[in-house]
Amino acid sequence: MKLPFIFAKRFVAGEGFSSSLPAAKQLNQARHQLTLDLLGENIHSRTQAEHNVKAYVDVLKGIKQHELLSGISIKLTMLGLDIDVEYCADNLFSIMEYARANDQFVRIDMEGSAYTTLTLDLFKRAHAEYGSQNIGTVIQAMLHRSKEDIAELAGLGADIRLVKGAYKETKKSAYQKMSDIREAFNTYAEILINSTPFPRFGTHDDQLIRGVRSYLADYDIPSSRVEFQMLYGLREQGLTDLNKLGYPTRVYVPFGTDWFPYFSRRLAERKENIWFVISTLFKR
Ligand SMILES: Cc1cc2nc3c(=O)[nH]c(=O)nc-3n(C[C@H](O)[C@H](O)[C@H](O)COP(=O)(O)OP(=O)(O)OC[C@H]3O[C@@H](n4cnc5c(N)ncnc54)[C@H](O)[C@@H]3O)c2cc1C
Repeated sequence: MKLPFIFAKRFVAGEGFSSSLPAAKQLNQARHQLTLDLLGENIHSRTQAEHNVKAYVDVLKGIKQHELLSGISIKLTMLGLDIDVEYCADNLFSIMEYARANDQFVRIDMEGSAYTTLTLDLFKRAHAEYGSQNIGTVIQAMLHRSKEDIAELAGLGADIRLVKGAYKETKKSAYQKMSDIREAFNTYAEILINSTPFPRFGTHDDQLIRGVRSYLADYDIPSSRVEFQMLYGLREQGLTDLNKLGYPTRVYVPFGTDWFPYFSRRLAERKENIWFVISTLFKR
């Protein structure tokens, strides 16, 4: 049974690009840049992968047409990573050709740890071709392997969004305790600040935001050197406050009909989010 969209409305801007436009424009007007994310996950047919390539390019076209201050996020499993890696690479490069020709930015979101190596390998190939002006990726602080990944990507000067990690991972591959995840996040944040031109921090966690801010203050690094990113529907006032303090800010705006997995992750993350959803149902 498919839940009606009203349930997801708190976290998902719309079921299509056009219906998400009013929210996107309002956020740009509030001085936040955007990352538009066409929702969807693992696909297993080439027809679906090719449909997704076109759909991502259409989002890039829509951003240009409507003059939105926005990049896009993509998921490699939507481009056929489960079918064949070279096929997925071709699909990624088709999107990147369009992005480069139109001076647009594409970030490869990070999925569960089964995909980390493949994702980073494809990212590095694309980065070698398109550079940090057109492509970036994500590192999850919770994964043990991120210590090495951060060092390598920082060495490349890559454009990285650092997050805690949204997928359920085993003890063997990831920290389970919030205090350990936060400690790793703080360490990687410092590495990114020192080695990359413009690190991005995707978090709603005040402890982590305070950590980044005090590190910048301690070393006299201007607030314009980092970006704070939050998810659509969460803590917009907090992000606006950061913007007013001079930090570049960005909202990750998911949209599309395939919203259920994303929506479930938001509910699993924080019990308060369940109350947000319930309250949305009564605020039509
Ligand atoms: C822009 C962005 C992009 C992301 N991209 C990816 C990705 O590619 N791959 C991936 O695995 N994950 C991604 N994530 C998800 C991320 O990994 C975390 O799962 C998610 O952000 C929850 O962790 P948190 O640090 O925001 O705070 P949480 O761990 O959820 O919360 C920690 C504390 O922060 C405060 N807080 C959190 N939310 C709120 C709120 N709504 N209101 C008030 N206080 C709050 C509370 O004090 C809370 O106890 C992304 C997140 C963001 C923001």
